[in-house]
Amino acid sequence: MTQFLDVRTLLVMVAVIATLSAIGMASFGRRYPRFSGVAWFAVADLFLAIGMLLVATRDYAPDWLTTVVANVFSLGGLLLNAEGLRRYAGGDWPWWSRPYFLFLLLLPVTAWFTYVDPDVRIRVLAFTGCVGFTLCAIAVALHRSPAGPRLRLVQLAFGGFALWMAGRWLFTLTNAPMPSFMDAGSVHAMTILGYVVFVMTKNYGILRDSVGQALGEIEAQAHTDALTGLLNRRGLAEFAAPAIARARRQGSPFSVAILDIDHFKRINDAHGHAAGDAVLAGIAGILRSRLRASDACARLGGEEFVLLLPDTNEAQALHVADVLRERVASVEFLGVGRCTVSFGVSTRRDDADLADMLRAADRAMYAAKAAGRNLVVQA
Ligand code: GH3
Ligand code: MG
Ligand code: MG
Repeated sequence: MTQFLDVRTLLVMVAVIATLSAIGMASFGRRYPRFSGVAWFAVADLFLAIGMLLVATRDYAPDWLTTVVANVFSLGGLLLNAEGLRRYAGGDWPWWSRPYFLFLLLLPVTAWFTYVDPDVRIRVLAFTGCVGFTLCAIAVALHRSPAGPRLRLVQLAFGGFALWMAGRWLFTLTNAPMPSFMDAGSVHAMTILGYVVFVMTKNYGILRDSVGQALGEIEAQAHTDALTGLLNRRGLAEFAAPAIARARRQGSPFSVAILDIDHFKRINDAHGHAAGDAVLAGIAGILRSRLRASDACARLGGEEFVLLLPDTNEAQALHVADVLRERVASVEFLGVGRCTVSFGVSTRRDDADLADMLRAADRAMYAAKAAGRNLVVQA
């Protein structure tokens, strides 16, 4: 029987692609050690490459090498992927997600049906069954892990290939025995091609997730003030633009409040900069704890904070500011004692933008300072 795709050529092709993938993943893992488990993916792909290359040497190398050892490397490669994913994705992975016990079945069966009673079909059934089970177990474990939603592409690689293996198993069972694996027919040739799809999809899924994680963290950091965890100026601007546009569209009120710690220089001078920093973090915590989920709170720099209060009119904004002022004044800061804040509050009028509102609130805040501090003044 002549077949459209040549098995030996395909095996060599998978080996080359898996080796390149292994090199790529190894260099990625070395360059970015924060992503754990990546080295395991590299070794996994290398195992797969060796397994495929060994199968490709059938009729040229001893049978034990091209069947038993080849199967150890091919199934071993999948199991190493499970080890990598467990480390990469985190969470608790059940014991069956790394079914090493399958070797106890696969190796004796492969050896028996190579030497005692040579039968390609039974060897393919045993191998396909073990590989299919492993792929399926990994897909399910990944689905249940906390990182599952992030790693859908990787799940698809394992789950999709598991389904293919199930189909191949049934096909092998119900079709005529094959004379040799090198002449096994198109379904088996397509399975080898499937390894290329599997390796590429799995690795792209992992790389995509790594890039996504890193960019997400950088984005969050770019909007966050490191000392207090509040928004920084950039975060404030990004929150404000759509919120003010919504207020304009809906005709709903929008208020901002600026607060500045009173005599903060004295705190620094008397207790040191670290104590000053602790007060900043403490006040940030108080602000955050009293605001609504739809509000935003930013540190403008130094000891000045801004609150953005959508759907909040003048009277409500004054009330919020006064509650916060009292709350700050009532807290005993460790090693520093009490400290107070002065508020300037401004509510959007006409077509004011964020800069207009901040200017007005700043003027009001300075009026509060001039009037004796620990006060709220309306712009
Ligand atoms: P006022 O009541 O008039 O606001 O008095 P003040 O002492 O708070 O005056 P001012 O706003 O001029 O002083 C701000 C001080 O805040 C100056 C600076 O040493 C301190 N500061 C600014 N940024 C930080 C910071 O990140 N950490 C600490 N510990 N201190 C800071
Ligand atoms: Mg101050
Ligand atoms: Mg200041």
